[in-house]
Amino acid sequence: MDERSAANLRAERIAAIEAVRAASLLCRAVREALIPSDSVAKADRSPVTVADLGSQALISLALADAFPDDPIVGEEDATLLRTDPDGPIAAAVLRHVRAARPDATAEIVADALARCSHPGGATGRFWTLDPVDGTKGFLRGGQYAVALALIEDGEPVLGLLGCPNLPLDQDEPGAGAGVGCLFVAERGAGAVLIPLDGDSHETPIRVSPPESPGEARWAESVEAGHSDQDDAARVAESLGLLQAPLRMDSQAKYAAVARGEAAIYLRLPTSDAYRERIWDHAAGWLIVREAGGEVTDIHGQPFDFSTGRGLELNQGVVASAGGTLHAEVLRAVARALNA
Ligand code: AMP
Ligand code: MG
Repeated sequence: MDERSAANLRAERIAAIEAVRAASLLCRAVREALIPSDSVAKADRSPVTVADLGSQALISLALADAFPDDPIVGEEDATLLRTDPDGPIAAAVLRHVRAARPDATAEIVADALARCSHPGGATGRFWTLDPVDGTKGFLRGGQYAVALALIEDGEPVLGLLGCPNLPLDQDEPGAGAGVGCLFVAERGAGAVLIPLDGDSHETPIRVSPPESPGEARWAESVEAGHSDQDDAARVAESLGLLQAPLRMDSQAKYAAVARGEAAIYLRLPTSDAYRERIWDHAAGWLIVREAGGEVTDIHGQPFDFSTGRGLELNQGVVASAGGTLHAEVLRAVARALNA
């Protein structure tokens, strides 16, 4: 076991689990106020803004309690609350945050958000947070995730994904086991699934390599603007993949690979210029790797989380159940993209 793993992060793990759980429940409460789901006008992003800001504020407050000196690289900031402090979004954020933290004030919430502006980098330790990853999924009633990771000297050592709308039992979606997953991985200590609601029983998760490559289930974004679906179809054809893609929003795709629901996750660039954000990948990266899988960029390069808020040296994502499958997928990606 890695010398810097496991027991050394016990306090971090406990605090992070409670923070992500609280933020996930906040997101679910905001989401459940939107009934029926299709009544959300496409242009009205205010519910996801409330969830985004509320989730980030709750996690920032929890981390400040437990680790006051730890910086946070968060996706959101305090601009909206400071420019429109009396508006409906500020009021809704405060109301939702107060459900979990009754002492919170508008100023406390704005400060908590503003605290998450760390630039990241190669040295020291910081947390990185996507308070609602998969905002499109949140709005359409699909998958979304609260994604939190602790990075030490450029490498994720703790990763959490709160997935409020993900079925606990991947084989029986919507059935008795319920909905709401919390995935936790710690470097050198494996990955587990904890029910978001109820007791905190931890079930270890493992990737599930396919019997033959053709049988691999594969995952990609719902949004064609985030991952090139035509290129992915070419990769699938070249690998002889027989199944249709599992299309999911958010880092729930990494969780699907980690628990054996899919064996491959493809995120193929739609532009040469786009650089992925560290908060979109750090938690999922560690969860897949600690579950026995492999994650690289589309060129087979390891992710370099030390280059600031963006993954400046990487392009796209190939995640897999590992073993020989990974190299095989990378070869198929190279063939498809060079064709
Ligand atoms: P997904 O739910 O997997 O489609 O990914 C959602 C994430 O895609 C968001 O958190 C954005 O940060 C990210 N994103 C935005 N634009 C792009 C892009 N052009 N290519 C890849 N990812 C993007
Ligand atoms: Mg995101």
